[in-house]
Amino acid sequence: MAETFPEIREAVRKLCGRFPGAYWRELDRERAYPTAFVQALTEAGFLSVLIPEEYGGSGLGLGAATAVLEEIHRSGCNGGACHAQMYTMGTVLRHGSPAQKDAYLPKIASGELRLQAFGVTEPDAGTDTTRITTFARRDGDDYVVNGRKLWISRAEHSDLMVLLCRTSPRDEAKTSAGMSVLLVDLREAVAKGLTIRPVRTMLNHATTELFFEDLRVPVGSLVGEEGKGFRYILDGMNAERILIASECIGDAKFFIDRASAYAKDREVFGRPIGENQGVQFPIARAYVQMTAASHMVDHAAALFEAGKPCGTEANMAKLTASEASWYAADMCLQTHGGFGFAEEYDIERKFRETRLYQVAPISTNLILSHVATHVLDLPKSF
Ligand SMILES: Cc1cc2nc3c(=O)[nH]c(=O)nc-3n(C[C@H](O)[C@H](O)[C@H](O)COP(=O)(O)OP(=O)(O)OC[C@H]3O[C@@H](n4cnc5c(N)ncnc54)[C@H](O)[C@@H]3O)c2cc1C
Repeated sequence: MAETFPEIREAVRKLCGRFPGAYWRELDRERAYPTAFVQALTEAGFLSVLIPEEYGGSGLGLGAATAVLEEIHRSGCNGGACHAQMYTMGTVLRHGSPAQKDAYLPKIASGELRLQAFGVTEPDAGTDTTRITTFARRDGDDYVVNGRKLWISRAEHSDLMVLLCRTSPRDEAKTSAGMSVLLVDLREAVAKGLTIRPVRTMLNHATTELFFEDLRVPVGSLVGEEGKGFRYILDGMNAERILIASECIGDAKFFIDRASAYAKDREVFGRPIGENQGVQFPIARAYVQMTAASHMVDHAAALFEAGKPCGTEANMAKLTASEASWYAADMCLQTHGGFGFAEEYDIERKFRETRLYQVAPISTNLILSHVATHVLDLPKSF
């Protein structure tokens, strides 16, 4: 299959070569942030590919961004530490005021400012976002924010955060109304009403829980119109799902590469294990699934770039790619036998990492529900 953006891919591969498995294993053990890797990607301009040239980015489309993330993951690295720096700015770009764009986008493009945290999920409002209760009450020139968020990744490594909160109580007649987006300056907020608590998880993802206690956020931080925040957040989700899908494709390629190499090399019963169809067919199946999913990702990215509706395609890309990467992960572990469990092979680490994608940023069931009710017109269950 011909690769898109070969020069970008080659450059990303070269950069990733400086961050081998040993680098990631060390961080994984400590659950530490890959500062040097993120710095290198920032300096090379890979995190600003989606920012228009007038604001200092390279103004490329989503297809280029998918190539970057896919190669990062294929190389055994992980873009989860910084992928949101690529797309969270889309909320400001699409819905921010000219003053907000001028103030933030050039600095995000240069890496001077990091906008790679977005706070949507809450302990009692997971998938059902309209149930969020974090509330921003207007008081003079400020909003006063109270509430709690959970699973907010990279908050400790971000200068700014896109925060979805309620500005009016939930109205049963129109549940998605009354939510607003605030661009919170985390440098100002921490210890002045915002507490960030890291949450240790089965993978190294720098995710956190946030506690808001009378945090004052200037009214000028409101993005777009008050009460319309849910729509702004939904707008950004298509890009996010397509980009995450490209990480899954990269993971699947990593597993297929590793499994193929090992199956040719490892001899049992006096011959390479890859000679056995019981070993080679799962590898071939993983390749077939990854290739099909990859076409779906390219299709969704092309629609997004053309400004066409792509909600269903973005969801389907995310579902097929996350299932392809998980199948490939399981296949790769099995192909490696006992060695797949040894840390030094990096298989078990990537296995843990790629499992996330069937839950976040949206779980498989919710995608199936979308396709069932929006595409196939089946009755709604919720
Ligand atoms: C490592 C990590 C990082 C994350 N980073 C962020 C972040 O940066 N910002 C952020 O806002 N959020 C983040 N999330 C949250 C993530 O988006 C949610 O975990 C995800 O959307 C699922 O929500 P939930 O965990 O509350 O699951 P729930 O909504 O509680 O669902 C639990 C399970 O039930 C299923 N389910 C629920 N309702 C139905 C239904 N009606 N029909 C069928 N099945 C159903 C779901 O599919 C899921 O499998 C992160 C999560 C993780 C684990």
